[in-house]
Amino acid sequence: MCSKDYIELAENSILHTYNRFPVVLDKGKGVYLYDLEGKEYLDFGAGIAVFSLGYGNEEYNEALKGQIDKLIHTSNLYYNVPMAEAADKLLKASGMSRVFFTNSGTEAIEGAIKAARKYAWLKDKSTDHEIIAMRHSFHGRSLGALSVTGNRHYQEPFKPLIGGVKFADFNDLDSVKEAVTEKTCAIILETVQGEGGIYPAEEGFLKGIKEICAEKDILLILDEIQCGMGRTGSMFAWQQYGVEPDIMTCAKALGCGVPVGAFVLGEKAAAKSLEPGDHGTTYGGNPLACAAVSKVFDLFEKQDILAHVREITPYLEEKLDALVDKYDFLKERRGKGLMQGLEVMGRPVGEIVSRALGNGLIVISAGTNVLRFVPPLIISRSQIDEMTEKLEKSF
Ligand SMILES: *Cc1c(COP(=O)(O)O)cnc(C)c1O
Repeated sequence: MCSKDYIELAENSILHTYNRFPVVLDKGKGVYLYDLEGKEYLDFGAGIAVFSLGYGNEEYNEALKGQIDKLIHTSNLYYNVPMAEAADKLLKASGMSRVFFTNSGTEAIEGAIKAARKYAWLKDKSTDHEIIAMRHSFHGRSLGALSVTGNRHYQEPFKPLIGGVKFADFNDLDSVKEAVTEKTCAIILETVQGEGGIYPAEEGFLKGIKEICAEKDILLILDEIQCGMGRTGSMFAWQQYGVEPDIMTCAKALGCGVPVGAFVLGEKAAAKSLEPGDHGTTYGGNPLACAAVSKVFDLFEKQDILAHVREITPYLEEKLDALVDKYDFLKERRGKGLMQGLEVMGRPVGEIVSRALGNGLIVISAGTNVLRFVPPLIISRSQIDEMTEKLEKSF
């Protein structure tokens, strides 16, 4: 069977919630992907900011194979070695106190919301607490996460959502202040907005929010699902702001391809929120997923991934800035580290993305008019050159 046959098979069986590009990806090596016919693609999408170590990292693959032969699943009624090790490494990297492993980003958000509500409930036993979220945010598709996702188009058909959510404007501290009430239990935001169009939080904004939270005993939830795990040059983006969250969510690159997420609690939230019986999951913290997480932290250290991201970022920025200078329809570059966006004016981004695919380059879009660049973190200068060449051809 060839690509066309598999596409037809999928189209006849998979629920149609995605408009997929007509490509069947079959294998990967380093920062390249190959379709069923063997065509090569330079990958600046990394499975949506997931596969940071590149495809076919031998040590990562061996760790997973070893765990498969040993033990794949146990449930959370017992302890397992990879879970303990992965949790310890995640806490050391973040300086936070407690971790709960989930299977996805959206579940990490659900847990974060529950932890914040429980924290507030323990204080006053009232059941009408509010959460402030940001417009143009993205936190996931399950109902709780969707409720704090500032995108009307995603929300409308699924109402009523969870109650008590208010929206403020990202990078506008006054609009956050206006939304705060006595009932506010949490403020949730992405340190760098991803799906909304690659908008890094401004330092004054994040620090201002932290001050409000500290003053009113509101929990700060930072969603690091896309911008965390080294993507911006520090293990977590908030570490560059000197603003520590009370709750952090992780997923995407946490397992570098194995489905896993986590919500991580700081000291305050860990001491007084979720207790035995409050939350659970069959798969979360599964030995196979946690073997991946544990190895990812090891390899980040061994390969000094953070130093590489910091070293290579100015080169990517320079190349993208040169494109903005050269082409009138490119309005601006935004981003942090290897999470960059080019805002496009007057041309459909989807068309550029499609043409790039034809030219053997995977880039993805964000928002309605942004080209998003989230390559594996091991990307090299020559591969950045190759990307800009293929991208220009696609303009
Ligand atoms: C992808 C993403 C999510 C949702 O994660 P899933 O694993 O798709 O459920 C939540 N928040 C942010 C910032 C994301 O980028």
